[in-house]
Amino acid sequence: MIVSQAQQRLHEVFGYSSFRGEQQAIIEHVVAGGDALVLMPTGGGKSLCYQLPALLRDGVAIVVSPLIALMQDQVDALQQLGVKAAFLNSSLDADEARQVTSQLIQGDLDILYVAPERLLLSGFLAQLEQVEMHTGIALFAIDEAHCVSEWGHDFRPEYRNLTALHTRFPNVPRIALTATADAPTRAEIVERLSLENAQQFVSSFDRPNIRYRVTPKHKAREQLETFLETEHANDAGIVYCLSRRKVEETAAWLKARGWDALPYHAGLDASVRNQNQRRFLREEGVIMVATIAFGMGIDKPNVRFVAHLDLPKSMESYYQETGRAGRDGLPANAWMTFGVGDVVSMRQMLDSSDAPAARKQVERQKLDALLGFCESVNCRHQTILRYFGEQHAGNCQQCDNCLHPVDTWDATQAAQMALSAVYRTGQCFGVVHLMDVLMGKSNPKVLQFSHQTLSVFGVGKDIVQSQWSSVFRQLVAGGFLHADIDSHGGLKLTEAARPVLKGLAEVWLRRDAETENRKISKSGRSANAKAAYDGLADDPLWLALKAKRLELAREQAVPPYVIFHDATLIEILNRRPGSLLEMSQIMGVGRAKLDRYGDDFLQVIVAN
Ligand code: ADP
Repeated sequence: MIVSQAQQRLHEVFGYSSFRGEQQAIIEHVVAGGDALVLMPTGGGKSLCYQLPALLRDGVAIVVSPLIALMQDQVDALQQLGVKAAFLNSSLDADEARQVTSQLIQGDLDILYVAPERLLLSGFLAQLEQVEMHTGIALFAIDEAHCVSEWGHDFRPEYRNLTALHTRFPNVPRIALTATADAPTRAEIVERLSLENAQQFVSSFDRPNIRYRVTPKHKAREQLETFLETEHANDAGIVYCLSRRKVEETAAWLKARGWDALPYHAGLDASVRNQNQRRFLREEGVIMVATIAFGMGIDKPNVRFVAHLDLPKSMESYYQETGRAGRDGLPANAWMTFGVGDVVSMRQMLDSSDAPAARKQVERQKLDALLGFCESVNCRHQTILRYFGEQHAGNCQQCDNCLHPVDTWDATQAAQMALSAVYRTGQCFGVVHLMDVLMGKSNPKVLQFSHQTLSVFGVGKDIVQSQWSSVFRQLVAGGFLHADIDSHGGLKLTEAARPVLKGLAEVWLRRDAETENRKISKSGRSANAKAAYDGLADDPLWLALKAKRLELAREQAVPPYVIFHDATLIEILNRRPGSLLEMSQIMGVGRAKLDRYGDDFLQVIVAN
């Protein structure tokens, strides 16, 4: 029976007791020889969908992946499980490549990772034909299948030629996998890879373990540090910034304040980038401050937070970037701070780009959807999923809006004041000046333009500065005000402002809590079904288990999570196995790892 065999291998090799989501159906389908298109969110468990069939079908499985930098880690992880795995890409020298090829030809591999350009060399395809005749090819897995789409950021022209696999090896099943959810990309994958007959497996794109939080920007760095101090003192995470300069400044600032932070952006030397990425992957608790150049294929499972100091471009980007947190399924935070300046600069960037008008229009709409999400008072999980066309049952009870329901207030009068301040000052000033006028501050700039004489001067004295800033942010985000490129961020009225000024439309805004950041931080950790890491920081056994893991990882020059995931260590900590038999019941402890590390970790338990 296929299923029981699959389950047996799942336990024996991977140390897992059950399949997740659609894994079993996908695996059965591929083992039986069918083609599949798998859409699953990051952390959903895509790798198992081809790794297990690779072990259950005869011959070698060929995995096409664009992520050369990661192949080594994936192969290391499989070898730790006792699987015969190897990779072929440009990082190998001629001798090493020859050795892998000869293993392949002798039928001595279960899984081979190959870069697409390598796979498509005619010589290599001819070798694969030999392999198919003699020892067999179990399957082709096409990872990151969205790379075939011209519309995405990750377009790889070589992916277009992967149809060669279908034409030359019509009897070998193919499984294409991606975490990109949208329907146009899916259609393009089917068409470009000739997967018309493939069964599609579409999972929910919810990431239940990620806690989303959007917080108004006051002093972004200090807010970030408070967030790190209260919730992630020892954790690995990513801090996204828009510009290279801001990446460097933020990394340097964090470093000067004692955080283990590194910069990453496309302007750094390749060697520095590689070294920083390596430290992030191989060490514990490193914070990567990065532009979006960092991310694709970062499959470090225990990234505990993703922080955004600047707005992403769209909901798609936000989902993808925050999705790098918590691949291991343990609780993780997606934290973002944003203010009116972000909205203004994103809008200006869009307006001033050289993209064709139609494309700009689409990008504007995408940004507006993201702004709508930021200002939303509803459950974040629901809002995200609705955007991707999926229903979400009930509120998540763990995002900022669910934990601390947000008030809305009738801001019609305040909006009228703000909009008329824009109008009376001539529609060319930025938010800071407009707030000064409204609050009646006779500073040099106000005096220079004689704005102390305007009827709007001082009419907004009763509203504090942070609330004015919230009003302006929401008026810009809501499309009542537009940032003009020609006047360096000066705000102009839009058509939507007219009915408000005439008293024909009401404006309701969210009431930002002054202390929101702190308040949520404090209760945040315990709000969810008891965060897995609570109280672990000082537990001597936890520290000893982690130290042992790091020692073993260093000896073999692999990342710590390749030895055991955090979830496995936490289960060891909680269950304190006293024998190898008990150890074998722990999630993530398969046969090979039990043999290799069982005794080491039993000793750590005894000693603590
Ligand atoms: P994806 O490629 O979809 O982002 P991965 O294949 O890296 O996800 O899997 C995410 C995490 O889930 C990994 O740590 C993996 O070991 C774990 N995992 C996958 N399937 C199972 C399962 N059936 N039981 C327990 N853990 C699993």
